[in-house]
Amino acid sequence: MPFLQCIESNCQAQFDTHSRIYTCERCGGLLDLVHEVRAFDPEQLKRSWDQRLASKEPANQSGVWRFRELLPEVDEANIITMIEGNTQLFDAPRSAEYAGRGQLTFKHLGMNPTGSFKDLGMTTGVTQAQKLGANSVACASTGNTSASMAAYAARAGMKAVIFIPSGQISLGKLSQALDYGATVVQIDGDFDDAMRLVRDITKDSPLYLLNSVNPFRLEGQKTIAFEMLQQRDWQVPDRIVVPGGNLGNSSAIAKGLLELIEMGFIDHLPQITIIQAEGANPLYQLWQRIQSEGSDTQALQPVKGATTLATAIKIGNPVSWQKSLRGLLKSHGEVEQVSEQEIADAKAIIGRDGIGCEPASAVTLAGIRKLVAAGRIQPNEDIVAILTGHVLKDPDYVVNYHRGELSFTDKLGQKHLLSSNYASQWIQVGADRSEIEKALSL
Ligand SMILES: *Cc1c(COP(=O)(O)O)cnc(C)c1O
Repeated sequence: MPFLQCIESNCQAQFDTHSRIYTCERCGGLLDLVHEVRAFDPEQLKRSWDQRLASKEPANQSGVWRFRELLPEVDEANIITMIEGNTQLFDAPRSAEYAGRGQLTFKHLGMNPTGSFKDLGMTTGVTQAQKLGANSVACASTGNTSASMAAYAARAGMKAVIFIPSGQISLGKLSQALDYGATVVQIDGDFDDAMRLVRDITKDSPLYLLNSVNPFRLEGQKTIAFEMLQQRDWQVPDRIVVPGGNLGNSSAIAKGLLELIEMGFIDHLPQITIIQAEGANPLYQLWQRIQSEGSDTQALQPVKGATTLATAIKIGNPVSWQKSLRGLLKSHGEVEQVSEQEIADAKAIIGRDGIGCEPASAVTLAGIRKLVAAGRIQPNEDIVAILTGHVLKDPDYVVNYHRGELSFTDKLGQKHLLSSNYASQWIQVGADRSEIEKALSL
């Protein structure tokens, strides 16, 4: 049976998966869900996962539960699924060229049921909530977590309560949560305040916490690695590039990869590369200190008043930094930061590949470009970048960029108009054919 274990090396307390806890009861550390190494035959499991691709059963069709041998055990009948996962790998030639490379592949997790990768963790999180008998769930959110939790809670017939920072969440995401029937609690404060409050309230109330501090969320998200490798016939890429906010996703992907190594599915790790926005870069700062002073005694210093237009990663005090750092160190990874201008331009280029994504996802391309220019990514590397959210999540940002009106307020309160270097054309003409022909030079 899988069990929960504290990640602090001087604690390592164990708890069973029926306890309703989110962090270690002894020391407050983060918890890992630990699976016993079972005697799987990897080749046989790979074949059986491939067969499930043609099945009509929801538990086989889901890109998460298809891999259920490596997930927390549940009765198939009790799985809450919206057939999440099954997201495409896209070749992106324009983005590759922009980054100064010949090849670049995106795995677009924005193609999930509610438009972000959060669905992969919510199917396992809400399934666990139901298993524990919870009838209401809660999260703090910059938007996508709440949209996803609200949807899955509705599917399970549970009440959803979302805690959002005031005025910092995109209307696309908020409207999803409202549509799916969530109760919205707007806090006078930022995401880190909302996170602190919801962790406190869920300690001793009927609300079950579904932020990524909950290890059952990460179990679902680790299948990103499984599905990506299944799609690549188990060829490990040289590098996986992922945006970093609360750092749950990079932690989950690393956990999935490490389990695959332990069970003999793959024999080495790709380099995990995490990109943050300059105004919300606590992991980047920590990584810089580790490069110069070593990793032993370093702790993450939160960034106060984190700021970026990429609201999904506007987080100054990421909950999962230790788990994320573990993956970085084990895979000899990298951390980079990018500016608002770099994010905005990279996002427009990803759009031109016919893919599109929300601002937080575009840090991947911006970061790759920067690392290539610095010679820290080699020309022949095989790279998969993770796009985390759908382009329609934040339409205001898109329209403002292409109209030349996208501006960013920095930590000092100074407003900067960003350049719209890759704006699409927007022509205004009278309702007259010859005027149109002239404008389009036909
Ligand atoms: C949640 C989210 C992120 C950040 O992921 P973390 O696990 O918090 O690091 C990035 N992009 C999008 C679109 C998200 O919704």
